[in-house]
Amino acid sequence: MARSVLVTGGNRGIGLAIARAFAEQGDRVAVTHRGSGAPDGLLGVKCDVTDAAQLDAAFKEIEAAHGPVEVLVANAGITDDTLLLRMSEEQFSRVIDTNLTGAYRVAHRAARGMLRKRWGRMVFISSVVGLTGSAGQVNYAASKAGLVGLARSVARELGSRNITANVVAPGFVTTDMTAELPEERKKEILAQVPLGRYAEPAEVAAAVTWLASDAAGYVTGAVIPVDGGLGMGH
Ligand code: NDP
Repeated sequence: MARSVLVTGGNRGIGLAIARAFAEQGDRVAVTHRGSGAPDGLLGVKCDVTDAAQLDAAFKEIEAAHGPVEVLVANAGITDDTLLLRMSEEQFSRVIDTNLTGAYRVAHRAARGMLRKRWGRMVFISSVVGLTGSAGQVNYAASKAGLVGLARSVARELGSRNITANVVAPGFVTTDMTAELPEERKKEILAQVPLGRYAEPAEVAAAVTWLASDAAGYVTGAVIPVDGGLGMGH
């Protein structure tokens, strides 16, 4: 059955691959963007996840067009890398505000409709570095680790209403975010990936659509790695 799906940051990168995978299944898919617009076939809603008022307006637009959000994918995220001693509080807080508090804001807003419907799926896009840590990414890794606690708490609070909350933890995926990395760093990373390559965004999307499917109805509070083996043991 076609569901109302929202993917934050679904205008490009991993989020776009996720949005397309749901659309191909026949779901009604909305994506947030911050001014770029949305690709064909997807409902674009302008929304910065750090702004609760914009977010509420975006949800109202989606509810009017597609009905209440039944599948939420909290994917919007940024990096702002530097070593701890050089990291300003502003740099730390900005990344937390987007990646972690932004996910709280969308989950908080989406839960209302899911509770009414007594059905819902929330998927939070974390990262392998949320589990392993990463030099130069104190802010980013903290935000991604925080998503695990957030999702597992939601899983406990809302499980009795048939709402699941899970985390997908990708390793390195070919997108704009990783294109910025210096060549040397890319080589170092690849040397540690058992599968010896980056993931394609569609490979992350496959885990997300599965978690939102009826087949995964008994999976909640899980952290699913899609990392080529990079994070094994964590
Ligand atoms: P990109 O940099 O390609 O895209 C980031 C997306 O997030 C864009 O759609 C961007 O919107 C959106 N976004 C950023 N800040 C905000 C905000 N304040 N409000 C709303 N939307 C925002 O990243 P990826 O596709 O690579 O990453 C997607 C997710 O996957 C992120 O959470 C990232 O941390 C995670 N991830 C990525 C990995 C990788 O290797 N690429 C590995 C592990 C996790 P806009 O176009 O408006 O800027």
